[in-house]
Formats: sequence, C-alpha cells, structure tokens
Amino acid sequence: MEYKSFLIKYGEIGVKGKNRYKFEDALIKQIRIALRKVDGTFAVEKQHGRIYVEAEGQYDYEDTIEALKRVFGIVAICPEIRSEDRSFDAIREQCVSFMRESTGGEKKTFKVFTRRIDKTYPGTSETISADLGAALLDACPNLTVNVREPEVSLHVEIRNEGVSIYSLSIPGPGGMPVGTNGRALLLLSGGIDSPVAGYMIAKRGVLVEAVYFHAPPYTSERAKQKVVDLAKILARYAGPVNLHIIDFTDIQLYIYEQCPHEELTIIMRRYMMRIAERIAGHTGSQALITGESVGQVASQTVESLVCTNEVCTLPVFRPLIGMDKQEIIERAEQIGSYETSIEPYEDCCTIFVAKHPVTKPEPKRIRKSEEKLSEKIDALVDTALETQERVLVEPD
Ligand code: ATP
Ligand code: MG
Repeated sequence: MEYKSFLIKYGEIGVKGKNRYKFEDALIKQIRIALRKVDGTFAVEKQHGRIYVEAEGQYDYEDTIEALKRVFGIVAICPEIRSEDRSFDAIREQCVSFMRESTGGEKKTFKVFTRRIDKTYPGTSETISADLGAALLDACPNLTVNVREPEVSLHVEIRNEGVSIYSLSIPGPGGMPVGTNGRALLLLSGGIDSPVAGYMIAKRGVLVEAVYFHAPPYTSERAKQKVVDLAKILARYAGPVNLHIIDFTDIQLYIYEQCPHEELTIIMRRYMMRIAERIAGHTGSQALITGESVGQVASQTVESLVCTNEVCTLPVFRPLIGMDKQEIIERAEQIGSYETSIEPYEDCCTIFVAKHPVTKPEPKRIRKSEEKLSEKIDALVDTALETQERVLVEPD
C-alpha cells in the first residue's frame, strides 16, 4: 500500500473556541518542525477540524511515521488515500481497490465507518456504509462483515473538498502541542531523571529550555557533550532546546571552602535554583523543572526539597516526584534517553559530595552557613551568568 497522505487526529477535549485555533496552529507548526528532518517535501494543512499531511513526491514512509509519533498533541496518525471525486461510484471503486490492496486477498472481517463532514452529501452515514459494505462483499470474496469486532475498520470521510479512506490508526503521543502552555526552564543534568522530567512537561505543551551546571576541570568536556546529547534527544519531542551552560566551578569551590562539607550538596542545589531563576527571568521562563523524586537520594528527602525550594519564587515543576526509579527508567527507555544517561561521565555533584551529607537540613542553619559566602558569592554568580555558554540544540 502506498500512501501519500496522512490524516492527523488530535485531542480536542477542553480545547474550544479561540484556544482551539491556538492548539491547531501550534500543532501544525510542530508537525512542520518534526518533518524538517525527514526525507521528502510535505504540505501540512488544516480542514474542518482535521489536519492533513501530504507528501509531495518521493518520501520516507517509516521516518515520516516515526517523526509524527513524537509530536505532542497527536492522538493518531492515519495513512489515507484521498480523492477529489466524491461521486458514490468513485468512492466505491476507491474502497474496493483499497481493501484489495491492503488485505492482499487474505481472509478478513471488516466494517465500514462513514463520516459525512459535508452534511449536504446525499444519504446518511449508515446508508452509505451499508451500500459500501455490500459493494465490498460483492467485489472481494476474501471479506466478511463483522460489526462487533472487525479486523479491518474501513473509514470513509466525505468532505467538501474530497474523500479520505483509511484503515490504519497509529497511536501518537497525546498531550498538547509545544508552545500552547507557556515556557519553563529545565535543570538538565547528565542523569536519568531530568530528561524524563523535561519530556513530561513538554508533553503538556510547555516550551522547554534547559540549563546545565558544569565544573571544569572536575567535570570533563565529555560530560558536557553527554548533556548536549540528552538535550538533542529531548529536542526530538520538545523541538529545538535552548541550552544554557553555566560554569559552576568557582561557586562550588567557594562553598567547599566556606561551608560545612555535609551541607555542600544542599547549598549547591540552592545556588543552582537561584541561578536558574535568574536565567528564567532573562528568557521569560515562568517556571523551573527538575527531575527530583521524593526520597530518591539524600538531597531529595522532604526536608531537603523544602530547603531547596525555599530560595525559589517561581513554581518548580517536579513531574517525577511520586515515581519509583524503575518507573522513571522505563520512561527513559521509551523516550530513548536511557542509554545516553547511563554513560559513565561524572556529574558535577558527585565530585564534591560529602561522605555523610545532611539528610534533614534545617533552613535556618543552612541560611546561617550561606552567610559565610556573603563576601564573594554575588560577584561569582554574576560572573557565572555573564560567562554562560548558550547552544541551540536541534534534534539529530
Ligand atoms: P538526574 O538523574 O536528573 O541527574 P539525580 O537523581 O542525579 O537526578 P540529583 O543529582 O539530586 O538527582 O539532582 C536532582 C535534580 O537537580 C536533577 O534531576 C536536575 O533537575 C537537577 N540537577 C542536578 N545536577 C544538575 C546539573 N549539574 N545541572 C543541571 N541540573 C542539575
Ligand atoms: Mg544527577
């Protein structure tokens, strides 16, 4: 079966009026971005609450499906046959050749589902389905009708512009198109969790940008490249990701020098959040995203989360908060980030980690420790922000 066109189904529940146009336009934009990486030229257009992708000339079918399967907002991808001739005879012939070709003569049960989007088209959906069903039984001896559990559901949609025929419905990722729900800044490390957190928030339609804190020479170029690679994987779904790379070395060393070592991790995390908020302030991000999950490590006890959160004024989205590591790993595998996340390049936190970090930090005490940083920390934070590296990470 050779398809030239795809009918894109998307979730409409709760998306009405003006929001619906915003949703559809954002979805079309994201589909176009996703198809940029696919061999072929495509037209993407909207008609009567449907979006159509049409290949102009030669194109790669598998890659097209793969790309569309990653566009948030798409509920199903239906490869279709389109024709402009809406006469019943033409529709019948199209259905017969479609069923002949797609079943290859194999025995199959089927049912016809007709949708008259053009309500002036003669007949009712039921009578058209019945007439097409009868014609198919006549023309194709391998077919029998099963209205309860058909093996092939043949869909016929009659619009003003023409007719669509399809039977396949390939599930999309669901969610909302990126760009329909504001913007947030992801704290992206080289670990398993944060890419999954970014994916989950992007899936809700949020435009995601990212920040990575590195500590050269304690962390290598390779560790940084790993984060860029993770951003690339995220970009397959979330669209191009603006990545801010912050040199955190001097800040970490200064904290190491001035503060109790068992408080190092928590104080470092508070500075990461503070710097992330400053970046968000510059770029218009309205929230932060982290890969934190309650109880996973010492810095993620409830007390630690409270203590980290204390320095934030923006909301912090923690989509993994109630997930087990195993569940997160499964998501990472599905997304395709797991293999990259487990590459053995060191994270900036592991270098300065104390043997016995505090697991129940008291905010009052941490604030007191941070006072020891007052001499230089503001200047160090300013320098870190001024010398940040910015990379626009495109999907590979
Ligand atoms: P991950 O697997 O995402 O690295 P983790 O289990 O290693 O998480 P932590 O090291 O405590 O947990 O980090 C918690 C969260 O803080 C991360 O999910 C990430 O959002 C953020 N984070 C940690 N280190 C960095 C870093 N070097 N750069 C940017 N964000 C970071
Ligand atoms: Mg980590």
